[in-house]
Amino acid sequence: MMSQVHLLYRLQQIDSEIISKKQRLTEVLRAQRDNAALLAARQQAADAAQLLQKRRALQKALELELAGVNSKAKRSEDRLYSGNVKNPKELADLQHEIEALGRRRSALEDEILEAMLLVEEAAAADAASEAARQQQEATWADRLASLQAEQHTLAVRLNELLEARPAQVARIDPPMMEIYQSTGRAHNGVAVAALKGAVCQACGVSTSANKMRMVEVGEVAYCGSCGRILCAV
Ligand SMILES: [Zn+2]
Repeated sequence: MMSQVHLLYRLQQIDSEIISKKQRLTEVLRAQRDNAALLAARQQAADAAQLLQKRRALQKALELELAGVNSKAKRSEDRLYSGNVKNPKELADLQHEIEALGRRRSALEDEILEAMLLVEEAAAADAASEAARQQQEATWADRLASLQAEQHTLAVRLNELLEARPAQVARIDPPMMEIYQSTGRAHNGVAVAALKGAVCQACGVSTSANKMRMVEVGEVAYCGSCGRILCAV
């Protein structure tokens, strides 16, 4: 029959695993909400798309204005060369207007050229940030899938442990359970330490020959260094 100390050690293993699995589960749940990199990539892609749209709209507006200037100049030229205008003042006005429209056209053409370069630049940035966004979406999807799989595994294991615990507690004498609980409270939840050879596995300190003999026969012996119950493994 297993000694009470061994039964405590087994309970300790269950409890320690419950603690670590719960801790990991908390991390896994938190990690599933931590998609800051993805949100940043989405924002950047949205900003880049918006800038591109704005610059395209500017180019379009300039092109429309140029078309307006061209058709106005065409009408004025047609009228000037039609031979129907005889009034010198009107002819001079028409010539001035055509010259002014020509200057405006030239300025607009420069502006359009500049706008096209800005569109090109914004289109390249848009394509790059869209690619980066898609990369982040894929990375996040993979990460989420792996976190969800881990969450499932943890939940299944925790369920097993929580079901096994009462049966293990039932095998332990009540006074031993009290020792286990009070020692655990004093030692960060770890009441029982494995003893390998002469070395306590919780604190790494060797124990006395006398205590080793106690441990061997299944008596309750405490590590002289960390104070935990020692169990030969
Ligand atoms: Zn120790």
